[in-house]
Amino acid sequence: MIVAGNWKMNGSLRQGKELLAALVVPQGVEVIVCPPATLLGGLAASGRSDLQWGGQDCHAQPSGAFTGDIAAEMLAEVGASFVLVGHSERRQLHGETSGVVREKALAAQRAGLKPILCIGETLAEREAGKVEQVLAAQLSESLPESFTADAFILAYEPIWAIGTGKVASLEMIAAVHNFLISRLPGGGKLLYGGSVNAENAGAILSLPQVHGVLVGGASLKAESFNAIIRAAQEQSRKT
Ligand code: PEP
Repeated sequence: MIVAGNWKMNGSLRQGKELLAALVVPQGVEVIVCPPATLLGGLAASGRSDLQWGGQDCHAQPSGAFTGDIAAEMLAEVGASFVLVGHSERRQLHGETSGVVREKALAAQRAGLKPILCIGETLAEREAGKVEQVLAAQLSESLPESFTADAFILAYEPIWAIGTGKVASLEMIAAVHNFLISRLPGGGKLLYGGSVNAENAGAILSLPQVHGVLVGGASLKAESFNAIIRAAQEQSRKT
């Protein structure tokens, strides 16, 4: 079971250290923390061997005149093993196309990072009955053909459920995950993300095609993040 926390643009070094000090990571759960890039090196250096680290985005190039951007190699150098690519906030607020996301996924692999590739539909696309069409297009355009199952993690994040408190129903998650798993290389890992919290994590994680969760808001408080990690531990004991 995987529990990944995306802190987005939140937190100071002091707050990050306090949160980590309160995190309890049990056997059977892989916890990945994706703090803001400025905190990554400092937190990763704190010596928590029970945690893994991820960036929130990377540039496709290893270096160059790209003011404000961060190369995958730079994230790897300060302790990251993962990087989010194609998060809907990057796609929507920074105009990242699936083609750009694909280049970022390749860059992550080049740097020795495992990309957590995010895809998801808007509410309008869901209401128009286009969920599978949209996700299939995002997947085929963003996922490099050369990627084997262990080269990446896929995260299904319905855009209308991110940061809104509206969580997808268990039926919706199960239907989409079944659809996506059938399109992934065998053994591929698939996370759900979108308003996961201490109350709903157990039920979501108990779905057969859910291998973990990607958590935004609830990863910023030790109490809720720990509760989600405990739910993942309970589930991993059962499977
Ligand atoms: C996210 O940003 O990836 C996310 C799932 O956020 P939240 O849990 O806050 O909806």
